[in-house]
Amino acid sequence: MNPMTLPTLILGGGFTGLFTALHLSHQHYKPPIILIDQEWNFIFKPLLYEFLSGEMNLQNLWPRYDYLLHNSGVVFVRDRIQAIDLQQRQVHLASGLHYTYGNLVLSLGGVAGYFGVEGAKEQTFPFRTGEDAMALGRHLRDCLQRATQTQDLQQKRALLTVAILGAGRSGIELAATLADLLPDWYTPLGGQETELRVVVIQRGKEILKGDSDRLRQTVQTALQHRTALVELLLETEVISLTQNTVALKHKEQIETLSAATIVWTMGNSTNPLIATLPITETNRDKQGRLKVTHTLQLPDFPEVFAGGDCTVMENLLPATAQVAYQQGAAIAHNLQALSEGRVLVPTQIGLRGTLMKLGLDESVAELFDRYEVKGNLGHLIRQAAYIDLLPTPARNFKITAEWLSDELFYHIAKV
Ligand SMILES: Cc1cc2nc3c(=O)[nH]c(=O)nc-3n(C[C@H](O)[C@H](O)[C@H](O)COP(=O)(O)OP(=O)(O)OC[C@H]3O[C@@H](n4cnc5c(N)ncnc54)[C@H](O)[C@@H]3O)c2cc1C
Repeated sequence: MNPMTLPTLILGGGFTGLFTALHLSHQHYKPPIILIDQEWNFIFKPLLYEFLSGEMNLQNLWPRYDYLLHNSGVVFVRDRIQAIDLQQRQVHLASGLHYTYGNLVLSLGGVAGYFGVEGAKEQTFPFRTGEDAMALGRHLRDCLQRATQTQDLQQKRALLTVAILGAGRSGIELAATLADLLPDWYTPLGGQETELRVVVIQRGKEILKGDSDRLRQTVQTALQHRTALVELLLETEVISLTQNTVALKHKEQIETLSAATIVWTMGNSTNPLIATLPITETNRDKQGRLKVTHTLQLPDFPEVFAGGDCTVMENLLPATAQVAYQQGAAIAHNLQALSEGRVLVPTQIGLRGTLMKLGLDESVAELFDRYEVKGNLGHLIRQAAYIDLLPTPARNFKITAEWLSDELFYHIAKV
């Protein structure tokens, strides 16, 4: 069969997959495009904290795919992908449907990694999707309500304690957000903000492994100024979890922490579908992520493109949305070139800065390792950068907008 008449399948509608689809649509790509995701809605993960806090309009942060793809020519299929047959070029879905593709885009992201810690999956809240944020928000409000009604002091303390496992960027951003947000929810119920505890647990000696000392210092200072207390337990290993209890090891001593809310932000693992692909170990990294060529193809299957958190490039880019959406644009460009018989081009990714939420109305923007903008101005920069990037039908011609636009840089450089 002529591969041009077969569809291009995009598996996973996260930053890589959705942006590939939107770019292909704008490029008037000829083959049919089908985007498959298990969710009805796209989630803008860097703003998941705003989703939890209600600081931003949910429709912008969590739009439906069919709304985003209206009139784009992209067919959206809501289904769970069950198997990918790279030899037969077929994809099988949970509903029993299957598709044969001409080209395939693998953009399935990663999943939470629990590293074999006993009870971790069962006893902790993940914080990766819109549903996760909603479930966490509902649980926290319930704990605060119950804390106002219990007479048991130990139980009350546990209800008012949130343990965040992992002091990477998402653990820290969540801790800072909750330390401002929980008092807002608790004091109207008659509670005191001083009763609340947010405890961040980290195995290593420092928070934000791999980030600059300056950013670490800024973040630590910001954490000290939150409304509720944020405690950092460093060099502390999580041993096991049971209901409302974390067993910890610190300097060979085993301790327990009682917390009615335990959130796991400690790491990523390979999507099980990616793990089952017949790709050799030489074409994967230690985590099982797929190595891709400079043109974002699989070395042994050039009809298959891949990007985002399920892949790794030679120049070891961070697993971030900032990289994933640029890879989506690059994949779309190369799919277009392939369909027109043109030469494919190597992918260029620009890393422009780190944006972190450090509480309600407070953020830090670290730009090009040169400028750091903190506090309320940092918050405005972070919001402006992301709002510029939120995909909406009205704005989706702006999808080439950069993570931090040149205009924004120009103003910061003058500050
Ligand atoms: C809380 C949080 C905060 C973050 N903050 C930032 C930030 O500030 N800056 C930044 O740059 N990055 C941030 N990131 C990282 C960023 O979100 C990821 O790097 C990015 O989403 C990766 O894009 P992706 O397309 O590879 O995968 P994803 O965006 O994870 O998308 C994968 C998609 O595949 C779908 N899928 C998976 N398996 C199946 C299946 N079997 N069937 C059907 N569909 C499936 C999923 O539903 C999902 O929609 C954050 C991540 C989290 C969790």
